[in-house]
Amino acid sequence: MNILALDVGGTAIKSALINNGEILKGDECLSEARLGGPRLVENIMKTIDSYSDYDVISISTTGQVDSEKGCIIYANENVPDYTGTKLSMIIKKKYNKPVFLENDVNAAAIGEGFYGAGKGEKNFLCLTYGTGIGGAIVFNGKIYKGSNGVAGEMGHMVTHINGLSCNCGHKGCYEQYASTTALLRNAMAYDNTLNNGYLIFSELEQGNKEIKDIVDNWIDEIIYGLVNLIHIFNPSCIILGGGIMKQKYIINSINEKILNKIMDSFQGIKIVPAQLGNNAGVYGMAAIAEQRLKK
Ligand SMILES: [Zn+2]
Repeated sequence: MNILALDVGGTAIKSALINNGEILKGDECLSEARLGGPRLVENIMKTIDSYSDYDVISISTTGQVDSEKGCIIYANENVPDYTGTKLSMIIKKKYNKPVFLENDVNAAAIGEGFYGAGKGEKNFLCLTYGTGIGGAIVFNGKIYKGSNGVAGEMGHMVTHINGLSCNCGHKGCYEQYASTTALLRNAMAYDNTLNNGYLIFSELEQGNKEIKDIVDNWIDEIIYGLVNLIHIFNPSCIILGGGIMKQKYIINSINEKILNKIMDSFQGIKIVPAQLGNNAGVYGMAAIAEQRLKK
């Protein structure tokens, strides 16, 4: 079975024709999401038009998704007029093939679980560190969605009482302290030329003690959130994604420090970086299409 998998993001639409876990053909184009939902849907169709010989269309997208109804529950101002789009129905009508829809963070988690860092794991968590912190809970090989379909907002666990204001409308959320944005904010308060991760970690490698303290404090913030999640979910594995996690110093420090902070009965946890990078979403949509067709 050939699966046409699309990963629709705020910047790009990544696509791949996948058979049995192997990418036969792949492509990437600009999504132009900022021009709004209708333009984004047009670009999704242009992408599909450039493929032939597929049996199923499987799409991951930015925004909160109702995967049963195949529609976008909510998309923020980065994609105007996308909220409410009945994407599965529109695509099914035009191409007359089965269509599956999932949120992009969930798709990436399933991709890592089936083909990447979590291969063989059944109960694991996936957290992505970037502007904010996204999360997915995988339980028995499937995404756990909660009663409203929106579980896994790890970025909005409150880790600081009366802490920094968050764009969710509340205060003290995990992502205000442990996201890549938080690291940049703290590093730039010390030296405003340190405006990306590579510069920060090259300063650290050159022995800058102040920067090392800033990075170590930020890693402690990451760890506190992970400790809470480990004690709640008892996962066998946690996968950490996002460009910043390519810095080995982070994963190594987390693994070194975290064992002293979790209860003995929770030992054995594996904390690993994501492996599939940009391809996690399309691999995940291939796995999700296979799962749902088996139903
Ligand atoms: Zn929040």
